[in-house]
Parts: sequence; structure tokens; C-alpha cells
Amino acid sequence: MSRFWSEIVETLTPYTPGEQPRGQSLIKLNTNEHPYGPSPKVIDAIRAAADARLRLYPDPQATALRTAIGQSHGLGPDHVFVGNGSDEVLAHAFAAIFQGKGALQFADITYSFYRTYCRLYGVEPELIPLDARFEMDVPAFVGAGAGVVVANPNAPTGIALGLEQIEQVLRQNPDVVVLVDEAYVDFGAESAAALVPRYDNLLVVQTLSKSRGLAGLRVGFAIAQPQLIDGLLRIKDSFNSYPLDRLALAGAEAAWADREWFEQTRDQIIAERARMVARLAELGFETLPSQANFVFTTHPNCSAELLLAELRARGVLVRHFPQDRIAGYLRITVGTPEEGEALIAALAEILPRH
Ligand SMILES: *Cc1c(COP(=O)(O)O)cnc(C)c1O
Repeated sequence: MSRFWSEIVETLTPYTPGEQPRGQSLIKLNTNEHPYGPSPKVIDAIRAAADARLRLYPDPQATALRTAIGQSHGLGPDHVFVGNGSDEVLAHAFAAIFQGKGALQFADITYSFYRTYCRLYGVEPELIPLDARFEMDVPAFVGAGAGVVVANPNAPTGIALGLEQIEQVLRQNPDVVVLVDEAYVDFGAESAAALVPRYDNLLVVQTLSKSRGLAGLRVGFAIAQPQLIDGLLRIKDSFNSYPLDRLALAGAEAAWADREWFEQTRDQIIAERARMVARLAELGFETLPSQANFVFTTHPNCSAELLLAELRARGVLVRHFPQDRIAGYLRITVGTPEEGEALIAALAEILPRH
């Protein structure tokens, strides 16, 4: 606390990101980063852009990137908004769409940044409980207030909804915006972007952080009908007209163009996920069905806190959320098969001792 703080600062509950260790060689399975990294063409493109042109401001409209993203969905650049990571896109959506309209509905167990933005923008959260299997009670999402936010696949469970269920949420909320956060959609769920032409209340948010291996570049985007996109642009141009710098634009455009690298590494991650689930089951773990690049798993005989600490002592970082209903679970990022085997070896050593 400081006497210089504005009134709102004291009321915030800032998001806690996963640990980013410095200088140690740890196996990092705690923040859902991509094990293979971006396409080599991304590095080339960033190198090629790193010259005296950095004295110039970047394109404030990010037209080339928005055009490329739109094209892959059969939409024009007027249907695409880009931001400094999808967290920033989400923040602008709260300011442009949800603020000042009553309660915003989202699941009791989901991405914790939604609550953080509720505090920041003065939006009241209305938590809809997931069922005992951590599945979404679709009919319960009828937001008469500010709107609805759905993470698909959900985090940290990894469980995905089908497109029919997303469409049901859209149909039962025709007068409010349904924001679908698709940070992990490429690992096995179906994107709602195809529904954008038919639903003016749909805002789809994606990121290059997870499936394009670019968490460090900070590029996210939204797809929606142009009226919603214009609202986001009005907030962006009242906040920071240049959220994507020249290097980020160059890298993101190259990442989007290299479909082959994207698909090949995504398939490797999906195959490793299946292998990891099977290996964990051999050790007695129960894992929720994941369509993401992480698994959410629990062991009947061993607490998650203990496993977290013992794994850390063996150089393996995973994530634990000390929250009701999920405190017994660990969220483990799907890495390379070598990283997966190091995790399994550490667990096999820890479990018999407890
Ligand atoms: C990682 C993540 C994001 C944010 O990713 P950015 O790196 O800010 O693009 C958004 N939503 C969910 C559910 C995530 O897991």
C-alpha cells in the first residue's frame, strides 16, 4: 500500500503468472509453452526486420497480419483485431463490451484472468459451477447482464465443448456478447470462428503464444463481425495505437504463413499428450480428457502440493492451483517425449515414498 496509489489499485487482485526461472536448467512444464518453438522462418523474418527501420513506428492497423489471419477464415481484415497477446485483447473486450452492463457469466473453474479483468474494469462476475466431471452446464449460461465468457478448451481442465454447444450458448444469448477464448483450440477443439458470419454477438479470441510457439512475442487476435471489431479498435486507439511492434508483426506474419511447421509440431504435441496420459495412468493418475497442450491430473494417494514440491526438488516445474475443487490436481504442460519421460521418472521415484 502507498499513499500515492489511486483508489482502484488497492481493490485489484492481479493475475499470478507461472514461474519463469532464470539461469537454471529446469524442465518447464508449468506455463503451457510450446516445446519446439516457432518456425525457423519466424526467426529469419524477425532478423530481417531488425534494422534501421526500427526508427519508424509500426503499421498501427497491422493490415498485413490482419489480412492473413482473416483469409484463413474466409474473412476480410475488418473482421480481425490484433493485440499484444490475447490477454490484452481480452482486456480490451472487457472495456469495449462488458463494462457497465451488470454481471458477466463464466465458469467457476476457468482462466483466472477473467476475474482479474472483472476487478480492473468494475464488472461483477457471475460464476456458473462446472459439474462434478468439470463439464460445462451449457443451459445455465444465459447471461442477461454483461455477457458470457467461455474458454474452449477450458483451462486448466483441458476439456472442450463441441461447436453445437458453443452455438447453443450463442443462441440462448442473442442480446449479449459471447466471448470464446480459444487459446488452446488448435490442439483438438473446433474453432467457433466459422460461426462469426452468422452471429453478431460472437467474439472469438486466439493467440500465437501456445500453438505457434510464440509466447515471448506477445501476439493475440480476435475474430468477430466488424461492429464488434470497431469497438475494440476504439479502446485500442484510446490506449496504445501500436500494441504490435515491427518485430512482432514480422514474426507473426511469418508464423501464420508457415502452416507446415504449425501442423507438424501440433501433431507431435497431440501424440505426446496421448502417450503422457497413458504413462500417468500406469502410475495411478486420473487425468481429465484434454484437448489442450496440457493435462490436468490427480493421484488418489498423493496430494498435489506434495507432488509439486517433490517434482520441483527434482528440477521439474508443473502448475498447481490452490482453489476449491481442483486443489488435488496438477496442470502439466505437454512437452517433448524426453521431458515427458523425465517427469514420469521423477513421479515414479516420488510416489512409492508417500
Ligand atoms: C495463455 C492463455 C491466454 C493468454 O495468452 P497470451 O499469451 O496473452 O496470448 C488466454 N487465455 C487462456 C485460457 C490462456 O491459457
